[in-house]
Amino acid sequence: MAIVETRKLTKEFDGDVKVVKDIDIRTEDGEFLVLLGPSGCGKTTLLRMIGGLEHPTSGQILIGDRVVNHLPPRARQIAMVFQSYALYPHMSVRNNIAFPLKAAKVDKVEQQRKIAWAAGILGIDGLLERKPRQLSGGQRQRVALARALVREPNVFLLDEPLSNLDAQRRASARDELQLFQREIGTTTIYVTHDQVEAMGLGHRIAVIDSGRIRQIGTPREIYEEPADTYVATFLGSPPMNLVPRGDDLVGFRPENFHLAPEGGNDSSSSLDFQLTSIREEYLGSEKLVYGEVEGIRAVARMAANAALPAPEGGTITLSVDQADLRIFDRESGLRRQSSLATIATAAGS
Ligand code: ATP
Repeated sequence: MAIVETRKLTKEFDGDVKVVKDIDIRTEDGEFLVLLGPSGCGKTTLLRMIGGLEHPTSGQILIGDRVVNHLPPRARQIAMVFQSYALYPHMSVRNNIAFPLKAAKVDKVEQQRKIAWAAGILGIDGLLERKPRQLSGGQRQRVALARALVREPNVFLLDEPLSNLDAQRRASARDELQLFQREIGTTTIYVTHDQVEAMGLGHRIAVIDSGRIRQIGTPREIYEEPADTYVATFLGSPPMNLVPRGDDLVGFRPENFHLAPEGGNDSSSSLDFQLTSIREEYLGSEKLVYGEVEGIRAVARMAANAALPAPEGGTITLSVDQADLRIFDRESGLRRQSSLATIATAAGS
């Protein structure tokens, strides 16, 4: 097991643009840390630098409190699994898993013991004599993980390993991966652009935008206490509603919108909004009510059987509890620690 740390890690390709900028992260020992961000934000480059496949332009990488910048990948005691899995097509599953052990000249009996151990953990004991083409996407992913596991690495680096799977397999592969990581307790850094995957898998999530970390925190912190409007709108589907008020942006999640009682609410504990031109989208267990608040698109998540006091196209009054309001600086997008009283005043002004 090991702690992974980066200090002011930066990567510039061709002396041109910086794709990773001054990244500081420090995992806990045994942590599952997710790097989450849109395509092209630099997550893979960051992971490849930690793995030793890419040289940093500046900054340090530490694994187990030792600077490893100068060490080649094989000396870093890490194992990487990529989206493509990169299994050898002509080799059986057994030989694919044995490959790193043979390369490390591990004794043959010990090789077979390790293969049996890893195959047992990943539930692929019955597939050892098959070729990769005879496996499903999920099974191939497990073989790739087994091949990484036999090396008993201190750190797993996983780059979108589930993205080749269909939605259903992906959900079960996610469950398996989480169980597996919690069981073996190996520090894991996992790259994805999928917020559902990030929320479900990570002990913590680092949200990355254009090569910089916007926020690192537990899934709950990132969702409930976003540091800025980028994080607030990147996570959550639909994203957080943001309504301008004076110099501020008032933010609240679709599920924090409630039908206001007739005659409105006590304004010291909540804030009312008029949602106009409403349109409902029925989703089975719930419904989304789309519309506009003061000319800004907004959405409310409600119980599927909630009766709206106006037909589609009409206007309803919705309120948000004070505790659920998040206030952001309109210009910088950064979260403020304002009170509702400030907002209510701004609204009245
Ligand atoms: P994706 O989710 O699409 O894989 P990502 O967040 O992992 O994206 P990176 O692969 O790290 O992003 O790429 C970050 C940026 O660096 C991109 O703009 C990419 O074009 C650029 N880039 C990556 N590798 C190189 C390279 N070898 N030379 C030049 N530019 C590169």
